[in-house]
Formats: sequence, C-alpha cells, structure tokens
Amino acid sequence: MTAATAWSGDHFIAGDVALDFANTVYRRRPELGADLLTGAEALAAWLDRARLLPAGSGTSHVVTDAALEEARALRGLLWAVFDAHEDGRTIPAASFTGLLDTARRGSAHVTVSPDGSTTSPEPDGVLAILALGAVALVLTPPPQGIRACDRCGWFFIDSSRGRRRRWCSMKTCGNQAKAARYRSTHS
Ligand SMILES: [Zn+2]
Repeated sequence: MTAATAWSGDHFIAGDVALDFANTVYRRRPELGADLLTGAEALAAWLDRARLLPAGSGTSHVVTDAALEEARALRGLLWAVFDAHEDGRTIPAASFTGLLDTARRGSAHVTVSPDGSTTSPEPDGVLAILALGAVALVLTPPPQGIRACDRCGWFFIDSSRGRRRRWCSMKTCGNQAKAARYRSTHS
C-alpha cells in the first residue's frame, strides 16, 4: 500500500484552489508523474488542508473510493480546460460541460457564505466547489492569465511584479532548472 501524501504548503503554490487541485500529481510534464492522490485518505487530507471542509466535520470517513474516482475525473477535466486556456485555445465544450455537471451534482451540499466563501460537509459538494472555481477562473481569468511551470507543468497564477514567473516554485523546479543550466554550461 502506498503511503498517503503528506501535504504541505509546497502543494498549495498556485494562488487558486482549483489550480492547486489540478496540481495533485508529482508532475504533468514532460510526462504524467505519480498521482499524489494516493487514496481516499490522501484526498480527505487534501480537502481538509485546502479548508474546503467545515472545521471539525470529520469528513475523512465519508471520502469513499467512489469519491476518489470522481475527484480524479474532475482533475482530468481541469487539465483539459486549463491546458486549453494556457495554450490560448478555445475551452473544449465537453470538458466545460463536465465541470458544470460536477457542479450541479454536488450543489445541493454547498454552503455559500455572504463573503463568497464556500464549504461542504460532503465530498460531492466539495468537488462541486472545485468545479465552480474552475468555471469562474476560465470565465473571468485573472489579468495575468493562468500559467504552467516550464519544468513540471503545474499550474499557477503569475502574480509576480514583472509577470515573468516561470516555475511552480523556486525551491523545487526553479533551482533544478538553474542546476541543469549550470551543468550544461560547466561540463
Ligand atoms: Zn514545477
């Protein structure tokens, strides 16, 4: 059995929770890496860490393997939609429809607060929140756009001053890219 991923701040670097959810694989480029959603427990821990669950709701026991499959399917939709956005292509209609279907299936379990924050005690409600977040992102994109890490393909919103952020994080991909460049010019 694979150990559950220990989520840390390094897994929440995107500046948006739907993008962070899309980034729950070790890497997306140059080829798909290991799945960090190793099981229902890892998904429950991620949702808790992302503060999508009401405090103390103890949702971990209701995150089933079926919910995990739905979460992975939603993540596939997010990849299709955000890849298109990042490439400057039209959002694929089937993937967009998939997001709306996910949102509708769980919407009865979503609580929307006056400040716009959303929570749900049910996994399908939480997936609805993530799907709605993705819909909101592509309909009202941040002015700086959605980018993907040059090295691993993780998505992020580039809020750096010069809008020249290239890496998911300087600590991981940024330093590895610099080290690779150093090796190639000093060998
Ligand atoms: Zn990266």
